[in-house]
Amino acid sequence: ALARARQAIAEHARLVADFPKPGIAFKDLTPVLADPVGLSSVVTALTHGCTEVDLVAGIDARGFLLGGAVARELNVGVLAVRKGGKLPPPVHSVSYDLEYGTASLEIPAGGIDITGQRVLLVDDVLATGGTAVAAADLLARAGAQVVGVAVIMELDGLPGRVTIADGLGTHVPVHA
Ligand code: AMP
Repeated sequence: ALARARQAIAEHARLVADFPKPGIAFKDLTPVLADPVGLSSVVTALTHGCTEVDLVAGIDARGFLLGGAVARELNVGVLAVRKGGKLPPPVHSVSYDLEYGTASLEIPAGGIDITGQRVLLVDDVLATGGTAVAAADLLARAGAQVVGVAVIMELDGLPGRVTIADGLGTHVPVHA
């Protein structure tokens, strides 16, 4: 699956220069997910080496698509980690710094109990790692613990892995 995923990514990923800001090379993985071989191989690859997980959390928004599919593969449930302001109250909320300004992430604080659950965090791209650490802080507020981070692609030259090691500990594997 890993080789097929690599090939599908090489074939279908689209690079968009200067989006959303000048100097950013945006990796658009939408076409990979729209391809049948791309989706199945990437989802299988994301679950690689993944055991002892109770819940998958997908990060807004492409992480939602991946998270649901990964959760089915692992036979666990899925939780959407949403951008702030989308969920009805009560919510757990965390704010974090972006390059310019701040953003927030939210999960429901009612209707589910994820206390003690071991969570696999799923997203499409790992860049600075700030979003992943913020999502892990948020899940920790709800009593859950991130035990792994799985992404399709990590960006060279950015400290994603270091940020996660600093924020969550070196025992949390990052699989890209
Ligand atoms: P970060 O918090 O810097 O690790 O950013 C991760 C989040 O931003 C993910 O949800 C990605 O979808 C998105 N992202 C950041 N940089 C890029 C990029 N160059 N191409 C595509 N998505 C990106």
